[in-house]
Amino acid sequence: MNITELARQLKITPQELKAELPQLGFHIGAKAIQIPEEQAQQVIEKWKQKQNKAKEIKKIKEKINKAKEESSEEKEEKNSLIKIPASIGVYDLAAKMDLPVMKVMNELIKNGVLSSINENLDYEIAAIIAENLGFQVQKGEKGEKVNALSFKKKVEETLSNENAEELISRPPVVVIMGHVDHGKSSILDAIRESQIVAQEKGGITQHIGSYQIEYKNSLITFIDTPGHEAFESMRAHGGSFADLAVLVISADDKIQPQTLESIKVIQQEELPFIVALNKIDKTDADPERIKKELAEINLLPEEWGGEVTCLPISAKEKTGIDDLLETIILLADLNKDTLLSNSQGSLLGIVLESHLDLGLGPVATIILYNGSLKKGDNIIAGQSQGRFKFAKDQYGKTVERVEPGLPVQIFGLKAVPQVGDLLQDAESKITTNKYEGGSLKKFSTRGDAPSSDSAQAKYVKLIIRADVLGSLEAINNSLRDLVCSDVEVKIIKSGLGSPTEADIETAKTTGSWLISFNVSVSHSVQELIKNSGIKASSYNVIYKLIEDVEDFMKSLVKPELKEEKIGQLEVLEVFHQAGAETILGGRVTEGKVSSKSIARVWRLNANQKKEIQGELKITQVQSNKSDVSMVPAGKECGLKVTGKTKVEKGDLLEICQEVKCLPKNEIQRKSKK
Ligand code: GDP
Repeated sequence: MNITELARQLKITPQELKAELPQLGFHIGAKAIQIPEEQAQQVIEKWKQKQNKAKEIKKIKEKINKAKEESSEEKEEKNSLIKIPASIGVYDLAAKMDLPVMKVMNELIKNGVLSSINENLDYEIAAIIAENLGFQVQKGEKGEKVNALSFKKKVEETLSNENAEELISRPPVVVIMGHVDHGKSSILDAIRESQIVAQEKGGITQHIGSYQIEYKNSLITFIDTPGHEAFESMRAHGGSFADLAVLVISADDKIQPQTLESIKVIQQEELPFIVALNKIDKTDADPERIKKELAEINLLPEEWGGEVTCLPISAKEKTGIDDLLETIILLADLNKDTLLSNSQGSLLGIVLESHLDLGLGPVATIILYNGSLKKGDNIIAGQSQGRFKFAKDQYGKTVERVEPGLPVQIFGLKAVPQVGDLLQDAESKITTNKYEGGSLKKFSTRGDAPSSDSAQAKYVKLIIRADVLGSLEAINNSLRDLVCSDVEVKIIKSGLGSPTEADIETAKTTGSWLISFNVSVSHSVQELIKNSGIKASSYNVIYKLIEDVEDFMKSLVKPELKEEKIGQLEVLEVFHQAGAETILGGRVTEGKVSSKSIARVWRLNANQKKEIQGELKITQVQSNKSDVSMVPAGKECGLKVTGKTKVEKGDLLEICQEVKCLPKNEIQRKSKK
């Protein structure tokens, strides 16, 4: 068919048609004037599909905009900005919004929070509730940043500035959340392996903090950051960047603290999620019990009439993985109106991992949510700028043009960006380049200074070196608030890469412990460490590192001396009193009397009331005229005591001993916000 004829049928100009053809997957020469009939029919078919999709997307966009308008109208109607302190009672919160308490309680229950009227809510929860009820919220504390821009809002904002016709669907970004040891890594591995078998692509070779699979013609991107507790902040990041979540709960265990934490993130981020009841291969697995527990916190499973999809799986035996992937696709489909992007549009991505490669320079794992990256693009990520050179995917393959949804490592930035930094076009006028939301704490290379009210505190000073920012941030976040009695952690310095001579010098002058995580320590540095006499350790398991720091803190806690009553004696006779020394005889009426203890002297006054006379030191205990170390209750004995207090017949001696006891040496956090 003639190109002009085809263009006419499609109601576009031949020039437009030529520009469209490559995008539709047809490559004909720029000068071609004819197109084979069969191909022409395919072009028409593809064109129709594209038009339909564009129409569908337009409808969805209109729906979003309408919903947005409605919700903003609703907000404007109330036009209420309220300030909420770090903690607020349910009753007070209701009063602030001028709403009935029951309305607030209902909203709390809807969000899975069971609390009484008098209970205090953390700012985070109170803010969610207030926002859900149509209020704008400000944190009523000095110096606090308010109305932090959530990443999702940023994406939404970017998309709303795009041309609706140009929006196409992008792969969902999925985060696997849950308690440690419930099987997050195993599930990620099982999914990854199922792909290798299915696709025989030779396997994912690069661990880049995220990977993408293709399942039944659908692409799914998984965030694959380490799952240990120490990565709490990264999981929270994951929650913020992801479109969907899989909440893993071990069917042989129960809902654990981190499960609840994950649920909190899921609810805060309004993430559509699936519950994976893992380890069903285990004989003591009881998925029904977990479902009951979920129902108790208002997450009613589907089969009981609720909305929570619970899938039994075994990452170990690789059962249920297909179901899980299928459900993810289904969930993505249900949320397709939010999974859009324009690869021609303005660049917006997020940094998931970053590190410095000695040969290649700063490397960052990123996912784009809009726009695309091609060679020479000027980009900016946090404080780091650069010119995009190329990217590598999970197979180590070079990617010249990065499209939304595909996790890649990018090269070309001049400095190592931070986890959570937005990746944008360097020319973009957006001033804020750092996503701030949820529990993302800004990473500080200096560590937090200890609070000033702890002048008495002893510090475990640390210098930390780690391989990648994600780990460093996780370590810093895990350690920086630890306290154990009067011992606190102080991070003197932390950074990426192997420890340096300067680190050793600083460790020496400050008395710090030099900790390396997943980095090699060169031979010469090892020698320096040896000669400097500083404490230095290397780790490649994060919890071991934290455990050691905790143990070290515990070992520094000084035992306290406490007096403990061990017995009581009634004075029957005072034999001799000269200077500070008294020899007396008495009967042990309670417990025991032992040498090297203290005797508190009590005497009955005229009103038959016991009065303390003073304290004496017991230096000798005799029974049947021979020295003994202890005499039990019921027996008589002789005591030699020293001290100024005079003893009389009939006095009661309260026998006390000093015992060393460790103060509460549990590891705690200074402030858990
Ligand atoms: P994560 O901390 O949540 O990432 O948990 P892991 O994936 O590291 O798993 C914790 C432990 O549970 C490991 O010893 C796994 O081998 C084991 N595990 C994970 N999934 C299963 C499963 O489906 N069945 C059984 N029996 N063990 C599992």
